[in-house]
Amino acid sequence: MTIWTNLWDLFFPRPCVICGKPLLQMENFVCLHCLSNLPLTNLHLQKDNEIEKNFWGKMPIERATSYLYYSKGGDVRNLLYELKYYGNKEIGRFLGHCMANSISLSGFFDGIDFIVPIPLHPKREKERGYNQSEWLAKGIADITHFPIHKEVLIRSSYSTTQTHKTRIERFESMRDMFKCIHPEVLKDKHILLVDDVLTTGATLVAASDAMAGVGGLRISVLTLALAGYD
Ligand SMILES: [Zn+2]
Repeated sequence: MTIWTNLWDLFFPRPCVICGKPLLQMENFVCLHCLSNLPLTNLHLQKDNEIEKNFWGKMPIERATSYLYYSKGGDVRNLLYELKYYGNKEIGRFLGHCMANSISLSGFFDGIDFIVPIPLHPKREKERGYNQSEWLAKGIADITHFPIHKEVLIRSSYSTTQTHKTRIERFESMRDMFKCIHPEVLKDKHILLVDDVLTTGATLVAASDAMAGVGGLRISVLTLALAGYD
C-alpha cells in the first residue's frame, strides 16, 4: 500500500458491504469484525450431512456443503445482493477465497479434478454482465488451483422467478434446464459444482441430470449460502 491508497481511503472511504463502516486499508469488501461473525455452516466437517442426504438418490453425490447460512434479514443477504444485483463480481472472487480457505484443510477438496460453475441462461448473463457462480469459482480456483471448465454445461431454458412455485413445480420447471455439450471432458472425473445459493437443490439436480449419461462421473457441490433456515 502506498501513501496514495491511504489518502484515497481517507477521502473516498470504502464501506463494509455488511455494516457500512469504512474499511481499513487491508480490508476488502467486508470488515474483519463482520467477517468473523459470518454464520458458517461448517457442514463440510460432518460426514453424511443434511445437504448430502438431500441429494441421495437424486444424483451421484460425493460431498456437499454450503459456506454460510442465509437468512432474509441477515448479513449474508447483503453479500448476495452485492454479488447478484449490484454488479460487484469481484466480491464473488473474494467470497470464493473465503469459502475455499474455510474448508480446504478438511479434505473436502480431495480428489476433485475440476470446477464447473452452474451456468446462467445467456440472456440473464448478458443482463447481469457476468455469472456470479463463475466468479465464486474463480476465487475457489485461486486457492485450490483446480481448473474451471465452464464449457461443459449450458443453460438451455430461461427460468422465471422460482419464489412462488411449490417444490414440485420447481422440479418440473427445472427439467431439461441444462444441456451437457462436452460429455467427453467429464468421463471418469470428479467435478465440483459451484452455485451461489442452495435452496431445494433442484438446480443442481437438474445439472446432474444433464450429465447423467457420462460414465464414471462423480459430483461434489459447494455453494456460498444455504437458504431455508430462517
Ligand atoms: Zn462490517
